[in-house]
Amino acid sequence: MGKQEDFVLRALEERDVRFVRLWFTDVLGHLKSVAVAPAELEGAFDEGIGFDGSAIEGFARVHEADMLAKPDPSTFQILPWRGETPATARMFCDIQLPDGSPSYADPRFVLKRTLAKAAEMGFTFYTHPEVEFFLFKGKPETGMRPVPVDDSGYFDHTAQGGGQDFRREVITMLEAMGISVEYSHHEGAPGQQEIDLRYADALTTADNIMTFRTVVREVALSQGLWASFMPKPYTEHPGSGMHTHMSLFEGDENAFYEAGSEYQLSRTGRSFIAGILHHTSEITAITNQWVNSYKRLIFGGEAPSYVCWGHNNRSALVRVPMYKPHKGGSARIENRAIDAGCNPYLAFAVVLAAGLKGIEEGYELPAEAEDDVWALTETERRALGIAPLPRNLDEAIREMESSELVAETLGEHVYDFFLRNKRAEWHEYRSQVTQFELDRLVTRV
Ligand code: GLN
Ligand code: MG
Ligand code: MG
Ligand code: MG
Repeated sequence: MGKQEDFVLRALEERDVRFVRLWFTDVLGHLKSVAVAPAELEGAFDEGIGFDGSAIEGFARVHEADMLAKPDPSTFQILPWRGETPATARMFCDIQLPDGSPSYADPRFVLKRTLAKAAEMGFTFYTHPEVEFFLFKGKPETGMRPVPVDDSGYFDHTAQGGGQDFRREVITMLEAMGISVEYSHHEGAPGQQEIDLRYADALTTADNIMTFRTVVREVALSQGLWASFMPKPYTEHPGSGMHTHMSLFEGDENAFYEAGSEYQLSRTGRSFIAGILHHTSEITAITNQWVNSYKRLIFGGEAPSYVCWGHNNRSALVRVPMYKPHKGGSARIENRAIDAGCNPYLAFAVVLAAGLKGIEEGYELPAEAEDDVWALTETERRALGIAPLPRNLDEAIREMESSELVAETLGEHVYDFFLRNKRAEWHEYRSQVTQFELDRLVTRV
């Protein structure tokens, strides 16, 4: 038993913990949880807790169903919304097969494997997400339009607006769990909020995003509201992105920074962006995994529709933010494609893999897009070499099907499961007769 495990076992007693929730994430990004009594934890650290993998989305075929959840003691936290005495705690788990090898189906492992590849190249990967989501009045009912909690817009401060009290409660809970928040504000659409987490290594960030979604949902429920990370709930309003700021470090040095170069961006930083752009269409099915994700990507509203980069250009897929001299020696890039409904482990893994590929192969960065690329004509964009993102889930799946990079990054099992699942989603969607079609046609044709 290591030091961290000992620390957890002691904390269980000191904090009067009665339940420990073991958390992990399925392939589509849903949180899974099994609660164990504190007495079980020593065994859980040694051998893991067994469960039926075949019942978890994307985990196992029936004949090889046994899996083990092994808690990661460094992720131990008390859940503030469950009260103090007795308390409930949680730990994220790594999933193992009965022989102790890591499960090929565990999204956390997919990310760890990609981070190990970055480490072999001498890099640590840091991310900082800006999470957008909607708050509705109560749980939206099937067939009904969800009702936003307010009519406010970007950065609005609404007197007695539910949004502020809500955000304050969420942030207090996150901070109690060791997750720092940098900014929070009302976003552009009615009921839409944004909360930005402080940067951390990508594995911690992905865990934090899973915790964040849970906290946001819990606080919403406690205030009679409902929170949703659906990418695009309203036709006429912008959707919810999860812009992610990224940087690579070599030891203590930011590998994207080079004093005096254009935008203070090093060759490593430029090749990383080039890698993301080059492989964007292949990885979009992962970063934007739902049929609905593509409604956000064609709307404008500061969500990208085209593959390009720019400096302070909010129509670009990758933006290089303004250099902040007071943060000397630091440089980062912002990926604006990722949406709030993604599996953060898989999304970070494929974006990182694409960026690393750019560094390995020494990809050259194309010219930056200086204009609002939405306002250009198709011909102008073509002349500038600016390609569209996949326009729907079907196009994204087709790109992913022929991607060696994604197959290698996800591993065969996750890759096959994901494609099968998404093909089924697309098929179901495209055979629907929608209200839009009825409204247009039933009385006219
Ligand atoms: N909601 C927009 C998106 O979908 C982003 C708006 C913003 O943060 N400027 O990406
Ligand atoms: Mg923001
Ligand atoms: Mg925003
Ligand atoms: Mg942003």
